[in-house]
Amino acid sequence: MTIGVLKEAADKRVAVVPDTVKKLKELNLDILIETQAGVDAYFPDSEYEEAGAAIASHQDILQKADVLISINPLEEPELKSLDKGKMLISQFQPFFDHDVADRLNGLGLRAFSLDMIPRTTLAQSMDVLSSMASIAGYKAVLEASRYLPRYFPMMITAAGSIRPAKILVLGAGVAGLQAIATAKRLGAQVEAFDTRSAAREEVKSLGAKFIEIEGAKEDTGAGGYAVEQSEEFLKRQREEVQNRASKSDIIITTAQVRGRKAPILVPKSTVDNMRPGSVIVDLAASTGGNCELTEDNQVVNHNGVTIIGDSNLAALMPQDASVLYSNNLFNFFKILVKDGELSLDMNNEIVSGALITTAPETTISE
Ligand code: NAD
Repeated sequence: MTIGVLKEAADKRVAVVPDTVKKLKELNLDILIETQAGVDAYFPDSEYEEAGAAIASHQDILQKADVLISINPLEEPELKSLDKGKMLISQFQPFFDHDVADRLNGLGLRAFSLDMIPRTTLAQSMDVLSSMASIAGYKAVLEASRYLPRYFPMMITAAGSIRPAKILVLGAGVAGLQAIATAKRLGAQVEAFDTRSAAREEVKSLGAKFIEIEGAKEDTGAGGYAVEQSEEFLKRQREEVQNRASKSDIIITTAQVRGRKAPILVPKSTVDNMRPGSVIVDLAASTGGNCELTEDNQVVNHNGVTIIGDSNLAALMPQDASVLYSNNLFNFFKILVKDGELSLDMNNEIVSGALITTAPETTISE
């Protein structure tokens, strides 16, 4: 079976790195890599060739590969050009693009959406959402530091003392926890909040303060994900954030509710209360943003407060992001492939959870 790895159209990452090519070859797979697919992540074609891949053009890969893998899904015109029965592996985000499975089914294509892999301990090594969120949390702090006109750590110098930066993190999931850890390493004072009570101990174990806000709704049946909160709770949360925002130098927001618009936790009135020079990094920008003034993929300046709206910060660290995505993919392939061919065990909840299509001409063994 031939695996095709495409160059991303607007992303510096690459889905498979040379080290993973070697491992995929051990599964008896042939690998085609698009010319210069890894160049923006500093993986030259020569390294792929040394690892055993063949370099090919975009068109050749679309035609010849049985399985096409990418980080971002192909555009519609290209999908329409593909032969029926091809398998695509990407991040289709069916929770937000509600029709994507129907469209792929209509074209006779099969697809695994890596963002649908269950968030279970067993699937952790394949969890691209966690790998990328962790990088985004780290990068959020570094991006904030670029704009903050102040130090992070406390400094006691001959020229005077500097107080440590105060950072407020809203949403202490994978990205939030990595943001807390990174900010602490840089010497900032960090406080954080999450609606999931399990986050309390994780926040504290990183040396940050957990903000207590009573009355958050939790649902153990939501697969570890947060559930939508009542308007009354969100109002109380906004008031708490308002109290702390004027003292914060940086607010990092990561609060998401799967399949829903992100909750507004930082309204305009709160930004108005922040000191000029403060920074907000909104990782929920692509789902509407946690800050009312966030513009997706833009950096906005509101009365001296910088608001960075970016849900794809992992792409700013293309080399390690590619390595981790590629490792996640390889671990997924290990449960998909037998004797060099796809052999899908639909009783495996990772396989059935990630398969979003029901197209015909499959070789699924049930
Ligand atoms: P996410 O990106 O969907 O959301 C980010 C965070 O925002 C979450 O922690 C969520 O609780 C929080 N949030 C939502 N509404 C909020 C609000 N109003 N105020 C404050 N915070 C709010 O989440 P994620 O980081 O991808 O993680 C989702 C869940 O999956 C978490 O429980 C995580 O621990 C779990 N997880 C488990 C595994 C595993 O066991 N293998 C792996 C990864 C993640």
